[in-house]
Amino acid sequence: MKLEQLCEIAGNCTECPLQEGRTNVVFGEGPSNAKIMLIGEAPGKNEDETGRPFIGMAGKLLSEIIHEAGLNRSDIFITSIVKCRPDGNRKPKKPEYTKCINLFLNKQIELINPDIIGLLGNSAIYALIGEKNIKQIHGNLYEIDGRKYMALFHPAAALYSRKLLPDLKEDMIKLKELIEF
Ligand code: SF4
Repeated sequence: MKLEQLCEIAGNCTECPLQEGRTNVVFGEGPSNAKIMLIGEAPGKNEDETGRPFIGMAGKLLSEIIHEAGLNRSDIFITSIVKCRPDGNRKPKKPEYTKCINLFLNKQIELINPDIIGLLGNSAIYALIGEKNIKQIHGNLYEIDGRKYMALFHPAAALYSRKLLPDLKEDMIKLKELIEF
């Protein structure tokens, strides 16, 4: 299966309750052979309205951080652990993200086969590598089943608490240094 086919299937997905409140499925965007994947929690209002990932305030900050690290956002595949917006911006529930990861995210990772996966924020970190304390583990590299993951703060958290911003920037640079050119 190709990434475009998977995207088409996701566009019609009704496999979990999150489908009820969505306007658009936010599959993610970026090259199908990206060396870096960034995975966040869930689409927000702007993302739901447009079908594009990380395009609100947090997305703008993410773009700046990516640029400052010497990377191009257009070279990175950006997505979330769930593809539909949870109502009221709540956190996705375990059965919802487990379903969506099994149906879509795992296949995206397999098809894109990135060198490194950056997990943005607690929800993605816990869902993918089972770690909880982001303050202690951000910037750490994890190797699980042959995949490399790094935990980073979510840009929305850095918007809310600017003191997290230097760590997020530093971790993005570390992540860049792990790519095999
Ligand atoms: S969140 Fe994922 S599993 Fe749930 S309806 Fe949307 S695409 Fe399907």
